[in-house]
Amino acid sequence: MPSEFDLIARHFVRPTPRTVLGPGDDAALLAPSPGAEIAVTTDALVSGIHFLPETDPERLGWKTLAVNLSDLAAMGATPRWALLACVLPDPDEDWLAAFSSGVFACARRYGVDVSGGDTTRGPLSLCVTALGEVPAATALRRDAARAGDELWVSGFLGRAALGLAHRRGEIRLPAEILDACLDRLEKPYPRVELGVALRENALAHAAIDVSDGLLADAGHLAEASRLDVEIDLTRLPEGFPQGFAAAPSLTERFQRGRLSGGDDYELLFSAAPERRDDIDALGARIKLPLSRIGRFVAGAGGVSLRDARGEALPVFYKGFDHFAENIQ
Ligand SMILES: [Mg+2]
Repeated sequence: MPSEFDLIARHFVRPTPRTVLGPGDDAALLAPSPGAEIAVTTDALVSGIHFLPETDPERLGWKTLAVNLSDLAAMGATPRWALLACVLPDPDEDWLAAFSSGVFACARRYGVDVSGGDTTRGPLSLCVTALGEVPAATALRRDAARAGDELWVSGFLGRAALGLAHRRGEIRLPAEILDACLDRLEKPYPRVELGVALRENALAHAAIDVSDGLLADAGHLAEASRLDVEIDLTRLPEGFPQGFAAAPSLTERFQRGRLSGGDDYELLFSAAPERRDDIDALGARIKLPLSRIGRFVAGAGGVSLRDARGEALPVFYKGFDHFAENIQ
């Protein structure tokens, strides 16, 4: 039976060029850039709550790091370092090798050093602490939306929710959209380039990543900024081939997923109307659709949906709550 030290050495130690002292000592040593603030976030993924136990370990490794980088992206921070704590039922070397190759593929893609970590025996759960840098006083915060700002979202919403329903056997997705939905669920690409560009070019006032669902996360922006947000239902991006959701059950799922599905890891941000053209140009440059889906008005944290005529619709789907909905 390999010791904890053997396991860590074999699967979790790679070169750490941005770290003064990496894995192996009591603590890692990091050297932040002069004038930078450090954005820190941590997220635990628990088997049966946040992922299905049979999830492909390589994709799970990618996602474990990616969801944390999504939080850094939402702050406009550049990811630099991560710490990884794994609670593992028993050391299955094949599973570990695949899991760690997913973690390090994501780390390489986003220029992150895995600077330290820990492994412990127990029920499968995975916890990453990610650190990023952002020039002092420039981070994108939830509380900085202004009345009159427009609400924007990157990419497409609702895909991860469809992917999860497919994996659970509740629906069968048509072949032409299956991979897009499963990829968003299992191998999300955090919108780091977007977050950094919004911050560098002072395009956005406030930002959040969509991890709990559009309504819930737009609500978090509105609440923190002490405003109301109105979302125009007709402007939500769809992005699928016409007619893919011919079955009423799929249409209903997709609509619900776009409003309240978790796990899409797109960015939601507020920006002044004068920046529309700059934001469109940024989307074209980084090849990521950016959609203007609503606006902030005076208020106290409310979210409303508007139909094609601008009439208010009841807000009928709540966001994803990890304590209320267990995916098993
Ligand atoms: Mg977040």
